[in-house]
Amino acid sequence: DSRFSTQISHLALDIGGTLIKLVYFSPNGDNCEDGSIVVGNNGCSVVQGRLCFAKFETRKIDDCLDFIRLNILQHSGVQHARDKFSVKATGGGAFKFADLFKEKLGIVFDKEDEMHSLVCGVNFLLKTVPREAFTYLDGQKEFVQIDHNDLYPYLLVNIGSGVSMIKVDGDGKYERISGTSLGGGTFLGLGKLLTKCKSFDELLELSHQGNNRVIDMLVGDIYGGTDYSKIGLSSTAIASSFGKAISDGKELEDYQPEDVARSLLRMISNNIGQIAYLNALRFGLKRIFFGGFFIRGLEYTMDTISVAVHFWSRGEAKAMFLRHEGFLGALGAFTSYKD
Ligand code: ADP
Repeated sequence: DSRFSTQISHLALDIGGTLIKLVYFSPNGDNCEDGSIVVGNNGCSVVQGRLCFAKFETRKIDDCLDFIRLNILQHSGVQHARDKFSVKATGGGAFKFADLFKEKLGIVFDKEDEMHSLVCGVNFLLKTVPREAFTYLDGQKEFVQIDHNDLYPYLLVNIGSGVSMIKVDGDGKYERISGTSLGGGTFLGLGKLLTKCKSFDELLELSHQGNNRVIDMLVGDIYGGTDYSKIGLSSTAIASSFGKAISDGKELEDYQPEDVARSLLRMISNNIGQIAYLNALRFGLKRIFFGGFFIRGLEYTMDTISVAVHFWSRGEAKAMFLRHEGFLGALGAFTSYKD
């Protein structure tokens, strides 16, 4: 059935440890959330429409199954695909949940490698989507036009539950060179334990209102309010994240949860920025693209990462962000459909 095989290429999934990301094609863009990408208007493609995005918490996978059933299968007049429907899937959940998707929806996963999908997703965005990459410094967002002939090499830092750092040298030419387990999952996990927040959005909202200096030990706290200028450390630089809690004589309950959330966000973002910079230095890479759902376009996070990269590299390396940061793997899996 030719209609079936066309529909098949309309959906790709990236099932991660925390979130499920969906990219799907919609001819008229119905029900698309913000950020959808118009495709097929350049004369190269026969189909015109929009690439739409959706995300679900992995622990609420039933919501995702319902969404696919309603918006993708039934929309195409299919109740249950009876194993005829195969979709591109990546991330650990492509293995873990393969049986569930087959049983509940009749969908069979055509698995794509996770790192490969990430890199394909970024390359696709940088090559085809205008105003995708931007820098964020001093509260200013500035879009960067990347010359296609001068794209490589670059460092891709994907901040999901954990963090992967990938050196990209070309289409399909890449190597995972580093990573850290202190990632978005750590921020959310520790944040839930320390502040009793129930969700990522709640934790972010709290962190907006907080002041990290209440709990972080600053250089000035150690030096009696002055800079340690000899080695270039200002009095406001963080000497030790959460360090004030040692001697404050306070219990967790005595701190405002917003201050705890702020220190935590700062600690995780700073650490990732620093490791990213060190790896960029290790391989002489000037451009670092940050992706993953941890960033969520959040100014404070981007600012912390940018300042860390700028500070440590003395302005040599540039931190860049992507508008579709959370959907890199899903987009890469989507682009792996052959026309
Ligand atoms: P993974 O593929 O490992 O699930 P993602 O790129 O989807 O990784 O990022 C997951 C991280 O994004 C979480 O650990 C959390 O820090 C952050 N995040 C952003 N938005 C949400 C949300 N709505 N719910 C849960 N985590 C979120």
